[in-house]
Amino acid sequence: MSLTHDFRDAGRVKALLAAITRAADPVAARLGRPLQIMEVCGGHTHAIFRFGLHQLLPASIEFIHGPGCPVCVLPVEAVDQAVSLARQEGVVLASFGDPLRVPGSRGSLLQARAEGAEVKVLYSPFDALALARANPHKQVVFFGIGFDTTMPSIACSLLAADRAGLTNLRFLCHHIRLMPTLAGLLAAGEISLDGFVGPGHVSMVIGSRVYQPIAGRYHKPLVIAGFEPVDFLQALYQLILQLAEGRCAIENAYARVVAADGNPAALKVIDQVFESGVDSHWRGLGTVPGSGVRVRDRYRHLDASTSLASLPPIEAAAEPTWCNAVLTGRIKPHQCPLFRRHCTPQNPVGALMVSSEGACAAYYQYRPEQVPAEQSQGKEASSD
Ligand code: SF4
Repeated sequence: MSLTHDFRDAGRVKALLAAITRAADPVAARLGRPLQIMEVCGGHTHAIFRFGLHQLLPASIEFIHGPGCPVCVLPVEAVDQAVSLARQEGVVLASFGDPLRVPGSRGSLLQARAEGAEVKVLYSPFDALALARANPHKQVVFFGIGFDTTMPSIACSLLAADRAGLTNLRFLCHHIRLMPTLAGLLAAGEISLDGFVGPGHVSMVIGSRVYQPIAGRYHKPLVIAGFEPVDFLQALYQLILQLAEGRCAIENAYARVVAADGNPAALKVIDQVFESGVDSHWRGLGTVPGSGVRVRDRYRHLDASTSLASLPPIEAAAEPTWCNAVLTGRIKPHQCPLFRRHCTPQNPVGALMVSSEGACAAYYQYRPEQVPAEQSQGKEASSD
């Protein structure tokens, strides 16, 4: 199959839409409300709007935008710590592009750079090794964030730095593991959900088998999806079919990429470098048991959080209330009064407007008809 033709084929899309509608409408009628489906991954949020699927799907399905955007859940205090570190003399702080734009309570890393701090955008964590070699008299710190998807490349970079014996490179890691995060979300019981469209990229690393507790313990179906329209709709159809038939299972509709046991090499290197099961605080989610990681003691000389004497302490910081409400599915992005008026991708107030995977950025880019809550005079509850 060709990605750009077969997985976007109009005939297949129409057939799947008809099948989804036939299956979903009676279930929603029986429940007396739309089916509440969480698409975990921000990439799926963008796919829904980019391909206009929200306009084609029946009103009997409502999407709850999940927490699967690592930039969006990066806590304010982690950004503040990185900003304070970057402002120190002799420090070069490097990261991917998106984390640099996330606002903390004292500005973003990009603002720190504008004020003179040495902040670099890297496309790969491996580039941090070259940066450290080019700056032997400076302390280079790579600010690593992300779900299980980005952890392997950062773990490999850390191992390469260890082998190279670099003494002026450290890693400041804020990684979040998906499964404990979903389990925490369900255990908290604050969101009413009927099922999950599972993430494609994270599942490529962790596999499909790992989700079994979602069905077994929390009795929610989950179907892993790809990112093309046919991929996504096929997964959604399988999910709705489970609900219609009263089943609850983990299914994989992205088998051309996701294996049952994931990527063993990637999982091995994650486990070699990181210890999992650390209770961690995330923006919008609060403290989620077991969702974080720490660098293993064997590599603590490369861990900025344990070996960098000048690392500023983490200080509690208030999180923007509206962002928390969007992140937990209590409101839609356009129901935030700052949306599009004070908060834009060019001038983000919250992290959900920063990343290309953020729900607010998706609404901004693909739903120009959506205006801030105060302007819409109560119309906003309608549209998903
Ligand atoms: S529009 Fe901005 S402030 Fe409002 S929820 Fe989205 S990111 Fe947060």
